[in-house]
Amino acid sequence: MAAENGFLTQFVDETTFYNRIVLSHLLPANLWEPLPRFLQTWLRSYLTGNLFYFISAFLWCFYIYYLKRNVYIPEVEFGMYWVHKGLHDIKFLYKHLHATHHMYNKQNTLSPFAGFASHPLDGILQAAPHVIALFIVPVHLITHMSLLFLGGMWTTCIHDCIHGNIWPIMGAGYHTIHHTTYKHNCGQYTICMDWMFGTLEVPSVAEDNGLYQKAKCDY
Ligand SMILES: [Zn+2]
Ligand SMILES: [Zn+2]
Repeated sequence: MAAENGFLTQFVDETTFYNRIVLSHLLPANLWEPLPRFLQTWLRSYLTGNLFYFISAFLWCFYIYYLKRNVYIPEVEFGMYWVHKGLHDIKFLYKHLHATHHMYNKQNTLSPFAGFASHPLDGILQAAPHVIALFIVPVHLITHMSLLFLGGMWTTCIHDCIHGNIWPIMGAGYHTIHHTTYKHNCGQYTICMDWMFGTLEVPSVAEDNGLYQKAKCDY
């Protein structure tokens, strides 16, 4: 019984202490001091809850609406790199899904049409990072559809074997090498992810190794 009273006294002391810290900084004393202690505690919880809500909401909005341009594309790049790499590294997925796209690995077989020649599930998996990005950076439906369309357009471009060689763009030269070595240049728009994760094969270097010549189209 004595212990229970001890805890009760401690509880009362602590809540009084917290109420004083918060309310004395937010409200004039004559507004909260006359209130019973349980109302003071409710008021303290209400005000701090709202304060935290608005501060975190402000920071989240700032992140979404001011920094999103720096987040959306890296997220898609990261996601597409690892989905594509997973489609190669997980043998079951490669055999049943991604191998269809890699039928085009000889001279004269790569063309913009090869970009869309893939298993439907392969296409869905590689587009998934665009959908996942919506949970991190909400965008308008038309923006989302436009970015998906851009991804499709880019897919045709990197299969046309015309190597633009504009750093750090993942041009067709890089993807042509991907169709030959199967383990390099898994990225989509830029070479950043391959550079970061050690799978980059630069066309000029690869050409020295005979890789690029092996895959290059002969129009
Ligand atoms: Zn591939
Ligand atoms: Zn391809």
